[in-house]
Amino acid sequence: MVAAMSALSRELPAFAPGWVWLTGAGPGDPGLLTLLALHGLEQADVVVYDALVSEAILALARAAAARIFAGKRGGKPSPTQADISLRLIALAREGKRVLRLKGGDPLVFGRGGEEALSLAAAGVPFRIVPGVSAGIGALAYAGIPLTHRDSNSVVTFLTGHNAAGIVPDEIDWRAIARGSPVLVIYMALKHLAAIAQRLLEAGRPGAEPVAIVSDATLPSQRVLETTLAHAAADAAAAAMAPPAIVAVGEVVRLRAHLDWLGTVVQKRPASSALAASAKRRD
Ligand code: SAH
Repeated sequence: MVAAMSALSRELPAFAPGWVWLTGAGPGDPGLLTLLALHGLEQADVVVYDALVSEAILALARAAAARIFAGKRGGKPSPTQADISLRLIALAREGKRVLRLKGGDPLVFGRGGEEALSLAAAGVPFRIVPGVSAGIGALAYAGIPLTHRDSNSVVTFLTGHNAAGIVPDEIDWRAIARGSPVLVIYMALKHLAAIAQRLLEAGRPGAEPVAIVSDATLPSQRVLETTLAHAAADAAAAAMAPPAIVAVGEVVRLRAHLDWLGTVVQKRPASSALAASAKRRD
């Protein structure tokens, strides 16, 4: 592995001083880091990281690298987006190799676009290193195919709250409910009752299967299987806590056969088919 990595690192781009690498750390499991992200961690002078970046991943940074926390920490005031962008620009101008490390993918509900725009406007050179987004990682580690030929050729990623922290009513819930058989919702726990209500009003069946995956890909991963009608109450009863991904759609049923990790918290049989397949496994 080490030999392969050192051979590979000759092929990978050099991390030049004065550059910012806007990098996705994936959902938590260090095994899901890209080689390019690891290459960046091994060279960075400074790592500016968010709350959702796991300790195990941070530990891979060069020992001499400075680590700067730029996320929200309970009770303490968190840096504003403008502060973070200015910090990145200042560090780059000092000639540092700046690794901006974000959970999942930097451009998926991660404000990576805003930071990249600030860097571009300041003339700071940057590279974008994609990561496994939580929506992709959570479903894979819960044994749920994001798409499946028999059930969907469309999938929608959406956020359960907007910049103001409320259910985003700028979303056309009717169009989403009708047009996308599978929904993968980020930041959905807080407003789950309201989100489910909007989907039910738009015609999605109450018995539609839902999976809630918290701490996805980490040893503490938990999965709750429920239905749209019961999602909010079941999530509260099971004390599901953020970060969590909510998946809505028929593909959730396939978990009965594909749960390779075995992290069931609770099952609410959504139909006789699910109940039968769950029984078969017992
Ligand atoms: N850029 C990130 C998303 C940041 S928004 C990405 O691409 O994954 C933060 C939201 O991501 C959380 O509220 C949660 O919905 C989701 N999330 C991030 N890490 C997660 C994890 N390990 N398990 C479940 N959800 C996660």
